[in-house]
Amino acid sequence: MTEVRGIDLDSETRCAHWRTALDIIAIKMKCCGVYYACKDCHDALADHPSQVWPQNAWDEPAILCGACKAELPIREYLACENVCPACGAGFNPGCHHHHHYYFEMGPDPGNHSQSDEPICGGDTVRRA
Ligand SMILES: [Zn+2]
Ligand SMILES: [Zn+2]
Ligand SMILES: [Zn+2]
Repeated sequence: MTEVRGIDLDSETRCAHWRTALDIIAIKMKCCGVYYACKDCHDALADHPSQVWPQNAWDEPAILCGACKAELPIREYLACENVCPACGAGFNPGCHHHHHYYFEMGPDPGNHSQSDEPICGGDTVRRA
């Protein structure tokens, strides 16, 4: 069975930080290749900073479903609409807000409720 590390882990990989019914995934950290329940568990237990998965490594199986113990490639997890493709268990859609702790994300337009980024409207300015 795949080893998952974390603080106060339960049988579905919930940890001291994330304990709702939907918090059942563990994530293999790029830096050490070990599954942790969450980044906070990694930072508490590992002796090194975490690293994010670059996009060219997203075919790596790095997500563990705590319900069925299937390992999902990162790409598949990000595309799965918060439902395990293997067993149908629901994942926490709020994890979306933490993906940048684990995966190299590009610019993420439209997913922030309040945008503090300047809008690049250069081509609306016409030269006389
Ligand atoms: Zn690590
Ligand atoms: Zn944790
Ligand atoms: Zn599953």
